[in-house]
Amino acid sequence: MRDFLPPGWGVQGERGIAFVITGPSGAGKSSVINELLRRDPRLSFSVSATTRPKRPDEVHGRDYFFVSREEFLRLREEGKLLEWTEYQGHLYGTPREEVERKLSGGRDLVLNVEVRGALAIARAGIAHPVVLIFLVPPSWEELVRRIRARGTESPEALAERLRIAREEVREIPRFHYLVVNAVLEEAVEEILCIVRAERRRLVRWSG
Ligand code: 5GP
Repeated sequence: MRDFLPPGWGVQGERGIAFVITGPSGAGKSSVINELLRRDPRLSFSVSATTRPKRPDEVHGRDYFFVSREEFLRLREEGKLLEWTEYQGHLYGTPREEVERKLSGGRDLVLNVEVRGALAIARAGIAHPVVLIFLVPPSWEELVRRIRARGTESPEALAERLRIAREEVREIPRFHYLVVNAVLEEAVEEILCIVRAERRRLVRWSG
């Protein structure tokens, strides 16, 4: 490839790329991300810190770093979070060091964050390309159905998730890609296409 390029030029895939996947509750982010990680061994997951209690199927250090509120606030004070947010009464944040270490080691990173976090990561000035992908269910009716199907939602929690979702979709025009998750396999396939295309995007690294 070098033979054909002027000095200083390359393709984005030579260095780590951050793929930020956002979408309202019920879009299916976690399922899509798990499948992406399984399908593309060059992708690795950015594990966030959270004060939310662990769910039975989750593993500390794999799904999240489950920390106390005090620990979270300390990480934030010490500048160890690239961004953070409060969502439904719990704190969530992206550990800066992990992101930078993986990206500078040439790994492509997948981040599962809500909308404000995604936009904050794009603004954070990390020395790697940030690709913003917004995932939606095929319709509002389907979104409501998926949130209800989780079964754990009280009417208030459901109303709150829908209110947040309405605010979130207003930000779609600030993203690079919109993917509809009607059929999991198809959504995953589309995101893998985006990943491959972004790796081939020409970029001028220097001079
Ligand atoms: P859950 O509690 O269902 O795992 O996640 C709730 C929301 O928090 C999801 O929209 C998820 O994308 C978001 N989230 C998870 N980790 C982070 C993070 O580090 N930063 C931000 N801004 N949002 C996060």
